[in-house]
Amino acid sequence: MKQQKPESWGVYLHVPFCKQKCFYCDFPSYAGKEKFEEAYIHALIKEIQTEGARYVKQWGEPATIYIGGGTPSVLPCELLERLFETVGGIFLLRPQHIQQPLPQGEVAREARRSGSLVGRNNLHAVTFRGCAHEKDARVRARTGDIKCCADAKDVQATLSWRCRACPSPEGKALSACEFTMECNPGTINAEKLSLMKRYGVNRLSFGIQTFHDDLLKKIGRIHSSEEAREAIELARSVGFDNISLDLMYGLPGETLAMLQEDIDEALALHPDHISIYGLQLEDHTAFWKMNELGKLNLPDDDTTEAMYDLMTTALPAYGYARYEISNFAKPGYESRHNLGYWQDQPYLGLGAAAHSYLGGVRYENTKDIEEYICSMERGTSPRAQEEPATRAIQMEEFAFLALRTARGIDKAAFAERFGVPLASVYSETIKRMQQKGLLEETEESVYLTPLGMKYGNYVFEAFLL
Ligand code: SF4
Repeated sequence: MKQQKPESWGVYLHVPFCKQKCFYCDFPSYAGKEKFEEAYIHALIKEIQTEGARYVKQWGEPATIYIGGGTPSVLPCELLERLFETVGGIFLLRPQHIQQPLPQGEVAREARRSGSLVGRNNLHAVTFRGCAHEKDARVRARTGDIKCCADAKDVQATLSWRCRACPSPEGKALSACEFTMECNPGTINAEKLSLMKRYGVNRLSFGIQTFHDDLLKKIGRIHSSEEAREAIELARSVGFDNISLDLMYGLPGETLAMLQEDIDEALALHPDHISIYGLQLEDHTAFWKMNELGKLNLPDDDTTEAMYDLMTTALPAYGYARYEISNFAKPGYESRHNLGYWQDQPYLGLGAAAHSYLGGVRYENTKDIEEYICSMERGTSPRAQEEPATRAIQMEEFAFLALRTARGIDKAAFAERFGVPLASVYSETIKRMQQKGLLEETEESVYLTPLGMKYGNYVFEAFLL
């Protein structure tokens, strides 16, 4: 069924392989299944070429692409390259342009001729505001959050024109699409990073978790703190200028002082974005079993709360704005892909266990790698679940996903989506949460207070209809 073209949409690609299963992890990821990697990537490519191409035809290019897992960086270069070529061919880049870059002069001439770079030889819609390229071409703005060349610092984050596939004057391939790749420091090297860079990946998300080697071992990570530092330095040297680090707190044996050291270590690496998550004991993980046996020495509730308070005050103090409950970013480095999830934008998930949200319906592909490969070989759909949401569920999800963000629920967006004002559905709830100091309300929005962020789950429950 043809769906209405959204303002923006994202693509998620799942790579479910890991070298070792971390003890806390309940994500759909598997260790010891390397023998399926090649067949899996072949199947994923097929799904991109069918489903991916179908949505590009309907909706145009995605605004964001995110390759997550699992550990996508565990794949060998040869498979990564095959995957990137397909992603580029369908969603983003044209590999032939990577090999034969269009000369800069020609890009500018094309821009002058067409007045717009959209859809012409893989060129981007861009705008010039104060950057050196302003005089070279007239182009129209399409988005407002792409970094310019070096001049961006001076001209407040505007755009410069770029061919999506062609190297920029500084030799960088830039893209209007935010293209993120999750990386495990224990599986990265210069060759892989260069490959990512060459194929247009422009954001890296490193799973660091902690810089304490004893804690890394305790939680089952494969990397060391030294490898983490080296991986980030290597990524910078390859030219990545949008790097996110994932940290965790509340780990077994962790103290408040250790978390402070982790924050200091992270800040010393000057990441552009930091995600920080409290350890959750998920059912049937190794940690869950250890906890059942009384063998997990977790920090007590007071310490965990102090850890939460520490990270929510320390990171903003260093210029990382808290734009979502667990996410902090320097201005302009918020994850556009994840914001899409929280702002009710559709996304297409491809690969085993990948979730999609399309036309108000949530889908999930089979989690089983072999079943996924077989279904793609047979040419049948790998979707295992389809959940058309009722209007009430859609309202709830809209509300509590938006409430995760600092911006909160945009009243106009809610009214446009559901045809009724937010107050007509939630006025009582909003009033109750306001009285408890958990919500703030303005003319435009409703958002969590710092206390509300701390007790987010309590507030979200109140928004269930
Ligand atoms: S590397 Fe990530 S996906 Fe893999 S087991 Fe560890 S936490 Fe889970």
